[in-house]
Amino acid sequence: MKKFFVILLPIIFSAFLFACADAEEKNYNLYNLKLAYDNENNLLSGEMIFDYYNYTGETLNDICFHLYPNAFRENSSQSVVSLANYNRAYYDGKCYGDINILSSNKDFDFIGNDENILRLNLENPLNINEQITLKIEFECVLPKINHRYGVGENTINFGNVYPVLCVYENGGWDTNGYNSNGDPFYSEMANYDVQILFNNNYKIASTGEIENEYIEGENRIVNIKANNVRDFVFVLSDKFEIVTAQFDETTIKYFYYQDENPNQSLNTSVLALKTFTELFGDYPYSTLSIVEASFVHGGMEYPNLVLISDSLNSYDIYTTVIIHEIAHQWWYGIVGNDQYNYAFLDEGLAEFSTALFYEKNSNYNTTRSEITLRNQSNYNVFQKVYKDVLGSVDTSFIRSLDDFNNEQEYVYTTYVKAYLMHDSLYELLGEKKYIKCLKEYYNLCKYKTATPTLLIKAFEKGSGKNLENFFYSWFEGDVIIN
Ligand SMILES: [Zn+2]
Repeated sequence: MKKFFVILLPIIFSAFLFACADAEEKNYNLYNLKLAYDNENNLLSGEMIFDYYNYTGETLNDICFHLYPNAFRENSSQSVVSLANYNRAYYDGKCYGDINILSSNKDFDFIGNDENILRLNLENPLNINEQITLKIEFECVLPKINHRYGVGENTINFGNVYPVLCVYENGGWDTNGYNSNGDPFYSEMANYDVQILFNNNYKIASTGEIENEYIEGENRIVNIKANNVRDFVFVLSDKFEIVTAQFDETTIKYFYYQDENPNQSLNTSVLALKTFTELFGDYPYSTLSIVEASFVHGGMEYPNLVLISDSLNSYDIYTTVIIHEIAHQWWYGIVGNDQYNYAFLDEGLAEFSTALFYEKNSNYNTTRSEITLRNQSNYNVFQKVYKDVLGSVDTSFIRSLDDFNNEQEYVYTTYVKAYLMHDSLYELLGEKKYIKCLKEYYNLCKYKTATPTLLIKAFEKGSGKNLENFFYSWFEGDVIIN
């Protein structure tokens, strides 16, 4: 993201031994989603058939899923927006939404303050490398809110709308809930087969590629396939205009409604895709959609699709957000990370990638040096003000979203300071070696989950230097920035 701020179905599925568990030959989990949107009542009904492969290395008695829409409930433990953004988000007054689980082919219960984790309890333990098919029926109530999940003023955003498999690590399911700071998401690669029914007055932007579509009465039904992605999102609007372009094997689609420079925005998107492909590595998908949207923050990244807020202050900022969000296709999308515990990994790099874009494309109004000077100056003001007011300031990277005292501390640490770390590395190693390190990082973590340790490993390999002390002095907040 860019900030400026019960009926048990009598269906028995068999589990079978999956013969090969070699890392390169593992099957991805498959989400088979059948969704129908009722725009008169802001309701999304869904059926999910989920093929799960137990590659955890442990026998499982349960399987857990995030229910992110439950953060949008009344009195949820975490507000979905900070107080400062409240009125811009809730454009029509307070409004709430949630996800209700109607049925499953397994017994289930809920975990967490806001019932934000669904736990399916297995009648028989699922052995290592075994596969199981799970079925969940659900219904989502969309709140009126300019957010990643909700009916916005101009677009309806269906972000994190279905039960999303939790990541299993360190002997258990990662069950972090929602947080008003950042993008509180963490997921692994999967395949998606999605059917969506919606009123034909709307146009749709989504992750993946539409395989076929047809009209039935007043509705349109689209079938979408998306392979090898961490998440699935779609956006509907009756206002969308679309312009498209091609770069290599990828079709870039720009969905807009009030942008006065759509072709320029599309050109920037193509140039960002080209620049980052050259700098980091391939963009291995056939589509990339840039979507002007009702969104309270600057923008938001999803696989193959980015949201760009329709209420940014200037076209220069709009352009910068497009570039930042497209950089996330590499940092979050292809190279994943736990955005709850290590947000700086993708945000800092998306910020610095934006500066690299400007460094490589001189016909824009800014340069890397200017951005660096601005970030240093802003960061120093932040540190000074916080020291004056609070007596001290915590600038360590490695902490979860829960451990930031406020949104400002999160932004200045995760975006600005992490940008400055990359800029410092760039200056230290020189452009050629720095880019070589990023390519190493991309190749080492492609389709996987990056960690601070893997970041160091990639940079040490790419540069041939011992960089552990360098990185840890930044991670732990010891570096003095003047
Ligand atoms: Zn971001």
